[in-house]
Amino acid sequence: MPLSLQARYGLLRVRDEHPGFPQPAWRLDPDPRISDTELLIDVERLNVDSASFRQLAEEAGGDPDRVAGRIREIVAERGKLHNPVTGSGGMLIGAVREVGSVFAESRPVRVGTRVASLISLTLTPLTLERIVDVDMHHGQVQVEGTAVLFESSPFAELPTDIPEPIALAALDVAGAPSRTRVMVHRGDAVLLLGGGGTSGLLSLHEARRAAGPEGLIMVVDRAAALADVRTTGLADVLVEADATDAVATVEAVLAAGGREADVTLNMVNVGGTELATILLTRESGTVLFFSMATSFTAAALGAEGLGRATTMLIGNGHMPDTGAIALGVLRECAPVRAVFERRYLGAGARS
Ligand code: NAP
Repeated sequence: MPLSLQARYGLLRVRDEHPGFPQPAWRLDPDPRISDTELLIDVERLNVDSASFRQLAEEAGGDPDRVAGRIREIVAERGKLHNPVTGSGGMLIGAVREVGSVFAESRPVRVGTRVASLISLTLTPLTLERIVDVDMHHGQVQVEGTAVLFESSPFAELPTDIPEPIALAALDVAGAPSRTRVMVHRGDAVLLLGGGGTSGLLSLHEARRAAGPEGLIMVVDRAAALADVRTTGLADVLVEADATDAVATVEAVLAAGGREADVTLNMVNVGGTELATILLTRESGTVLFFSMATSFTAAALGAEGLGRATTMLIGNGHMPDTGAIALGVLRECAPVRAVFERRYLGAGARS
C-alpha cells in the first residue's frame, strides 16, 4: 500500500504550531527513535552549504569555536541545521544504524553501510552530541550525532575510490554538474560565475564536454581560484572580477575577449551577483542560479529593468543520477581531481 504523504515526506516530524512540510518548518523533532518508514544514521561529518558557512564564519569573526557554538545553537533550536540567515543547509555522511521495516521494503540498505544524504540539512532531523572539529577552509564539520531520513529522502552509498571529504563536497553540489550536462548544447558559449569553487569546477568539466571544442567557456572568479582553473585546461577565457560589481565584471569579460553567453551558471556563494549574471547572458539565453545567495526579486526585477527576456532557472539540488555525474567527473578528469585533492587533502589552506 502506498505510504501517506505524512509518512513519506516526514511531516510527522514537524513541531510547528501550524505543521506542514519539514523544509520550510521552523522546528523538527530529531528524536533518534525512528518509525517504520524512516532510516537512522550515526552522523560523522557535515558539509555545511557554502553560502551558510561563509555567513557563519563571518558572524563568528573566523573563530572555529564560535562557529561550532552557533551550529550547536541552531540545531538545538530547530532540530536541523537550517541557517536562519541564508536559509540553506548542506548535507552529511555517516553510517546506517537502523532501518525501519517499511523503509527497508522499498529502499534496501544494510546496517553499517556508509552513506551520504542527498537531501538538504534544512529538512533533516539532526541531533548533535559533540562537535569534534570545524574545518574553516572547507566548511566541513566533524560531529557525533544522529540524523533521520524519510522514505522519500535520496541517499547514496559512499564511494570507496574517492576520499570522503572530497566525495562529500562533490555530492553536496551534485545537482550543478548534472544540470549543466542537460542545459548546455554543442556550440554554446557558457559562462560560469564563481566557476573556481566546488560546483564550478565539476560543472566546468560538464560544460566543456557538452559545448564541445568550439564552445567558448568563460570563468569569472577571484584571483585565488584562477590558477586552479587554469591547471584544468578546461576554460578558454579566464577573468578575475568581483561579480557583485556588475559593470566592472561585464567590462572585464568583454576586455578579455569574452561575449554574452548562451548559458550562464551562477555558482558564487555571496549575494548581489544577479545583475552581472543577466547582463552577461544573451537576450534570449538561459541562466541557472545554482547559488543559494540568489535573490528571486533581484533576479526577476533586475531582468525586467534591463529589458531582458532571459530564461532563469533555480538550481534544484536533486537530479535523478543521485551524484553519479559529479563523482564521474572526479574519476574521469585527473586535473579537476588534482585540484580537489590539493584543496581537501593538502596542507589545509584553500588554494
Ligand atoms: P564554493 O566552492 O565556495 O564556490 C563559490 C565560488 O564563488 C568561489 O570560487 C568564490 O571565490 C566565488 N566567489 C565568491 N564571491 C565572489 C565574487 N564577489 N565574485 C566572483 N566570484 C566570487 O561554493 P560551492 O560549494 O561550489 O557552492 C556554490 C553555491 O551553490 C553556493 O551559493 C551554495 O550555497 C550553492 N549550493 C546550491 C545548491 C542547490 O541545490 N542549488 C546545493 C549546494 C550548494 P573565492 O573562493 O575566491 O571566494
